[in-house]
Amino acid sequence: MSQPEVVENGNVVIIRYTLRDSKGEILDSTDEGEPMPYLHGAQNIVPGLEKMLTGKSVGDTFTTVVAAEEGYGPRHDFPVQSVGLDQFGDMELEEGMMLFTEIDEGQVVPFWISKIGAKDVQIDLNHPLAGEELHFDIEVLGIRTATEEELDHGHPHGLDGTQGH
Ligand code: ZN
Repeated sequence: MSQPEVVENGNVVIIRYTLRDSKGEILDSTDEGEPMPYLHGAQNIVPGLEKMLTGKSVGDTFTTVVAAEEGYGPRHDFPVQSVGLDQFGDMELEEGMMLFTEIDEGQVVPFWISKIGAKDVQIDLNHPLAGEELHFDIEVLGIRTATEEELDHGHPHGLDGTQGH
């Protein structure tokens, strides 16, 4: 099977990245030697970064700044809410962790644990990186055609498409 020359929708793209905030502090990165596959055009990554990756080739490296609007969105003025620790049962909680709650029949929204106290937990409806300008360093390591199953699921199955989950 021939490999795609450039990144376009329906490709699994394998990248390495470092993400910094506007002050240059590292927020996240792929571990050395562990590149990350994602499915292009399936919103696996923030829209601003996906746009910049379109048309790139293997071996390309670039730096890009993604505005909050094209990243994790603006930070909304949601009031921070406190929820009793006992509401979470014996779930292992971590600050920054994403959970889901059903607010209306069938309507599920994500929320994030912002602070864990002795008796209660502060939750935030904003993504921890909402409102942040995102500075990415990107290296494109590989591009391959996604399998039918990957397209169906909307995410890659490992670097070579054979990994289950
Ligand atoms: Zn899957």
